[in-house]
Amino acid sequence: SLIIVTGANGFIASHTIQQLLRAGYRVVGTVRSASKADVVQKTHAQLSPKAAHLLSTAVVPDIADPDAYIDLFKSTSPAAVIHLASPFSYSVTDFERDMLQPAVKGTEAVLRAAAATPSVRRVVHTNSFACVYDASLGPRPGYTYTAKDWTPLTYEDGISAPNAPVAYRASKAVAEQTAWSFLKTHQCDFDLASLCPAMVFGPFLDTEYSFPSSLAELNTSNRLVWDVVSAGEQGTVPPTKGPVWIDVRDVAEAHVQALVMPSLGGQRLLLAKGIYCSQEIADVARAVVPKHRDRIPVGTPGQREAGSHFAIDATQEESMLGQQGKWRRLEETLADLVPQLYRVEEKG
Ligand code: NDP
Repeated sequence: SLIIVTGANGFIASHTIQQLLRAGYRVVGTVRSASKADVVQKTHAQLSPKAAHLLSTAVVPDIADPDAYIDLFKSTSPAAVIHLASPFSYSVTDFERDMLQPAVKGTEAVLRAAAATPSVRRVVHTNSFACVYDASLGPRPGYTYTAKDWTPLTYEDGISAPNAPVAYRASKAVAEQTAWSFLKTHQCDFDLASLCPAMVFGPFLDTEYSFPSSLAELNTSNRLVWDVVSAGEQGTVPPTKGPVWIDVRDVAEAHVQALVMPSLGGQRLLLAKGIYCSQEIADVARAVVPKHRDRIPVGTPGQREAGSHFAIDATQEESMLGQQGKWRRLEETLADLVPQLYRVEEKG
């Protein structure tokens, strides 16, 4: 069957599409420009030449325009849609225009098109731990966050946010609320599965097209790892931001699984391997990438922040998604990602 993936050139989307193609799905990926479509096509043609014919791309210049999606959905008759496109950058100036509107109106536009297309049976909506975590309650040592928790952030909170990370969290929270209320207020032949990943770390698809061409192009979550592993052996370990994480390949597999499992309709799933801190990244990276120890801070080896804040529990989700015991450990993720980051640095 045919799956539409929005934001096909993104970090998580690229892995998701690669896994979909390997599983034999036909995929239509949406992007904002023809040059990005070209990158997506060339990336997957290089990695999976035999499956390349299963992939096509469509340019949707305005994420918030339902008509563009309606035309595309009607002409391709997808069985399901994975909505991944949403701004995840902290270098925006106008929070409403650059973050909230694309997140919220983009979600609405995709759902409108899905509702107008009878072939669509499921929408997988990529949300975030940001939709779960309630910063107003503080670090909450002893508390365990699960998918039952909701952040109270509103659209207004996003507009008046003190900084971009808060505006981002509001954009994700309101986009998720928008999706669930759309399902309640519209006649839909499809159901919704909401995936809420923690910080997503992991390697890039390794082609000359998909690999970031410079450090400036690093995606927001992998940049957190770069900030640690570029601090220098005697440097200061940077503060931990958003202390929960999961590997990108496991998130991609969760997206594929969430398409097909009937039981996941109407579910909200937290995707998080565990908590981490920057010192742990430094310790693990020094162990698994010893060649680059001179770049990675020693800090205070073994010191952990776990006791100072909340815990998370997504073990139920790991089983529900058929991934029980499979989510990768930080050792594997960093062994694959960190050497790539130094290669990106060499490029410029
Ligand atoms: P990327 O930045 O790599 O990808 C984001 C995708 O969304 C790109 O295709 C981008 O297109 C598209 N996009 C962003 N803003 C707009 C816009 N205004 N109009 C149209 N398209 C837009 O991020 P990720 O792959 O990490 O994120 C994918 C999804 O996963 C997002 O919804 C994000 O919120 C969510 N997520 C990510 C986490 C992480 O740690 N990485 C954690 C939890 C959730 P373009 O290249 O043209 O800008």
